[in-house]
Amino acid sequence: MLSETMRNGLKSASMIRKMFEEGNRLKSLYGAENVYDFSLGNPDADPPKQVLETMKKLIDEPGIHKYMPNAGWPDVRATLAERLKSESGVKFTADNIIMTVGAAGALNTILHTILDPGDEVIVLSPYFVEYLTYIKNHNGIPVIASTTKDTFQPDINTISKVINKRTKGIILNTPNNPTGVIYTEEILKKLSALLTAKEKEFGIEICIISDQPYDKLIFIDGNLPSISAIFPHSIAVNSYSKSLALPGERIGWLAVNPAIEETEMLMAALTVSNRSLGFVNAPSLFQKTIARCLDVVVDADIYRRRRDNLYDILISFNFKCVKPDGAFYLFPKCPIDDDIAFAAAAAKYNLLLVPGSAFGCPGYFRLAYCVGEDVIERSKTAFEKIAREFNLI
Ligand code: PLP
Repeated sequence: MLSETMRNGLKSASMIRKMFEEGNRLKSLYGAENVYDFSLGNPDADPPKQVLETMKKLIDEPGIHKYMPNAGWPDVRATLAERLKSESGVKFTADNIIMTVGAAGALNTILHTILDPGDEVIVLSPYFVEYLTYIKNHNGIPVIASTTKDTFQPDINTISKVINKRTKGIILNTPNNPTGVIYTEEILKKLSALLTAKEKEFGIEICIISDQPYDKLIFIDGNLPSISAIFPHSIAVNSYSKSLALPGERIGWLAVNPAIEETEMLMAALTVSNRSLGFVNAPSLFQKTIARCLDVVVDADIYRRRRDNLYDILISFNFKCVKPDGAFYLFPKCPIDDDIAFAAAAAKYNLLLVPGSAFGCPGYFRLAYCVGEDVIERSKTAFEKIAREFNLI
């Protein structure tokens, strides 16, 4: 019954999920409080109260559970466009927005719309591993470009070398999963200049697909550099899985930059893709909910505190790690080259982390600190033991 492609795909099923399942096994053996599970980016907090209350009010609204235009409720798209316009200065309107089934739904919709078989999409490593599957879903070829060593910023030279006439897009993810790093405005502007030159050289259009589900989880003063403002040929993707702790509700959007030529045709094609891929439309109740909760976000200070505490523990045991300014991940260097062996050794102390290989970056490991502060505090002894085992202390 099973296709050969799926059979092979299953063999390399996500390491992250495997660690998650291992976590559940260890918790049933040793008790949840004795397992330090940093494996999955699943927010531990419930959604903010205002979101829950809005949802309850909306549930009885007449007509809310019906089909609507495939791109989403027009009033929701208009509200969102206004917000994006004021944040970025880019003149988005409702006609540039499609409501989607999370960021994952948006990414698949975009890739389905822009790729012909054999087209290439550049992915910066370390990367969110699903990008590779999404690109292959739509007959594209992922092309990996490493970020700069230890600072994890886009490497302009590396990207320049891999662009050719088959390049259709580049996926950017800032703040980044798995590193937590925010790409600097200076580097993004250099990348934009490079793309303009390459587009001219090859006579192509390169689409920046900006996957930004962590853009509200930032620990800097001021705003994130706006990808939509820096890259005219861009489509922004977002969701409320992280910023409102709603990953199970599958709500997000995509926003097509109005500077793209043929925007109208592109929007029509994206809307068809969203429908024909089987999403049909984004969940109705949650479209309406998020439109009324645009000013609500989970408290980023909670994550900042956790980052500080976990980072301090790592540094106190001589792990090397960038201190990132966003998302809820740390990406320290492994004390040995073999990150898979290191993750297995950590699991002996009930410490669950994901090897960097799962993100195309061996020799590192990812810690998702969307766990209670008590878990971070109690994990200290386990970090001490693993640091001792690998002679860091
Ligand atoms: N992009 C990145 C970088 C992610 O980390 C995730 C989820 O962890 C997603 C996309 C998928 O998000 P969603 O739940 O909105 O589909």
